[in-house]
Formats: sequence, structure tokens, C-alpha cells
Amino acid sequence: MPALLPFSPPGVTADYTWLDLSGPHYALGQAQGRQTEQFVIPPWWPAPPPLAFALDCARQIAEIHPPLLDELRGYADGQGLVYEDVLRGVCRQTMRLRARPPYPEGGCSSLAVVSPDGRVRVGRNYDFHPVQRVRQRLRLTPEQGRPTVGTRGSVPGGRYDGVNDAGLFICLHVALSDEPPAPQAGIPFHLLPRLVLETCARTRDAVDLLTRVRHLHAFNYLIADASGDLAVVEAHPTAVRVAAQGEGFAACTNHYRHPDMRPLQHGRRLTHSEQRLAFLDSQRAALQAGADMLTALCDHPSGLCGHAGGHTTLWSLTADLSARTLAYTRGAPCTEAYEAMPWPSAN
Ligand SMILES: [Zn+2]
Repeated sequence: MPALLPFSPPGVTADYTWLDLSGPHYALGQAQGRQTEQFVIPPWWPAPPPLAFALDCARQIAEIHPPLLDELRGYADGQGLVYEDVLRGVCRQTMRLRARPPYPEGGCSSLAVVSPDGRVRVGRNYDFHPVQRVRQRLRLTPEQGRPTVGTRGSVPGGRYDGVNDAGLFICLHVALSDEPPAPQAGIPFHLLPRLVLETCARTRDAVDLLTRVRHLHAFNYLIADASGDLAVVEAHPTAVRVAAQGEGFAACTNHYRHPDMRPLQHGRRLTHSEQRLAFLDSQRAALQAGADMLTALCDHPSGLCGHAGGHTTLWSLTADLSARTLAYTRGAPCTEAYEAMPWPSAN
């Protein structure tokens, strides 16, 4: 194992592949497997779990939406991999990294704003070390479940953020916290937005799902729907809570705010995350009055738009859930233009 991985290697080619696929889940997975590079567990990840652990996770996924496992089977076949090996890679037990530098002190920021006329907008910056090459955008129209558009990272089947045809939005944020000494099988972080988008129509459905499953990892989720119902769910393998929200505005970064959750993050440095959240909260009145969200997403003093190490903004998104529009950047929003994506549709 190398002592220090090249987390910001020069010349890394980011993979912003766009895939627009429809059909049964197995075929969706097979097409993704064939059209994307080989899934290799990144060297900075922990060793994969025992198969029995991964199968227990799979059983819990199947309780929510069995077709997602068909997609993973198709993906494995499309890549010539053994399904069980892919499953073990998907169900990593810990967010601890194998080598230095340590996991960054968060990075992702998101917000949702409802204007007085009922218009619902969301914005989000996804930050990590640029060594994360896979930043694929997918529009899926499955035979079972809702059509979606969203972004995938290193792991097949997952979504880091996205929308569905009902106008529901969700994104994830790693939460700075301790991990239980002995991991219990649960649902991996990146599959939860996917499960929400394919099975839920409203924020309250998503909150119900996220508060009843067993979480394998510590993550925060911001959720918004076209009716203006907003929520932040704070999740940990040992607890899950809905953070209090103001009327018509929600923001989320990488720390817990619910008093029941805060003890889980003792010893973690929260300054960067708290600073970004305070900045977003300070923008609330202007944004609700109609200010351009780009100004907030491009802010540098707060660290919202990041350009260094684990705080590098790998993509940014804006969506108008009322107008049914979605756009992504390839990199930091202060320099890269937003590209409009097609809205998810059953057509
Ligand atoms: Zn910037």
C-alpha cells in the first residue's frame, strides 16, 4: 500500500459520460457495464466486506426495490465481473480511507429555496479530491420505478444527486462522525438517493424511506419536491433524525444539527462545514426574493466553491423543480458553464 496516494494528480481525466437508457433494470445495468470503464475498487478504499455481509445488505435493498439488484447483476455481466464481487464492492463497510490524506472535512453543500410565488429551486456543489474520476450523468427510464436523471460516482447503481419525473430532488453529503466499532449490514449511502428517486414522489415519502431503513454509512440528505416540501435527513448507522427546517428554505453541509445526532461527531473538526452552512443561511432572504443561486454557489470566502484538495468542486447543479429544468457543470461553477440536462420522462 502506498504511504501517500496522489489525491490531486496532474492530468486526471474526469469522466462526465452521459448515458440515456431505458428498459428493464438488468438491461440498464448491462448497458452501463458495457459502456463504462471497468469497475475497480479504488485503492484508497477499505478492503471489501465478507460476502455474507454484502448479501445481508442486498436483502435490505431488495425489501425496498428488488430491480436495483437486477441492475447490478446486469452491470456485472456487462463488465464480465462476478456479481458477488461487484456487490461486495458496492457495500463497503466504512468510509475510512486506507491511506493518507484522511477523508476531507466534508465539502458538499446544498440548498433549496421556495419563492413567495411557490417556485422551488435547488442548488448543490459536490466536492471531493479530483482523483475521483467517475462523475457520470445518467437518465434512466426503467420498466419498474420512476424515470430519473442524476449523477453517479465510482460505484455502480448509485446516485449522488438527481431528480425524478415527479419533481422530487435528493442529494447526499458525507457526515462528519464516528463510526460504530463493528459495522452492521445496511443500505450503502449512494444507493439511497437512487432508491428514493425510483420509488418516491414526494418529500414525505423520501423521509419515510430514509427514516425506516438501516443506514450503512453516516450521511446527510437534502430533499425537496415541486410542492415546496423540504427536508434534511441526518443519518448514521445507529440513529436517524429529521433536522428542523425553516419555512421555504433548507440548506445542508457535512455536520449534524439535530441535538440527538451531535454527540456522534465529537472530535471531528466541523469548522469548514459550519462556515458553509452559515453562509447559505445568510443568503436565505435574498434567495427567497429571487436572487440568482449562482452567486451563492460560486462563493469563495465561505468555501462553498472549492479549488483545493478534498474541497475541490467536481460538479455543481441547479434545478428548478417548478419549471422542470436541471443543469450541471463539469467542475467549479465559477469557471464552468451549466449544461442543461433533459428532464426525466417516461416518453
Ligand atoms: Zn470557484
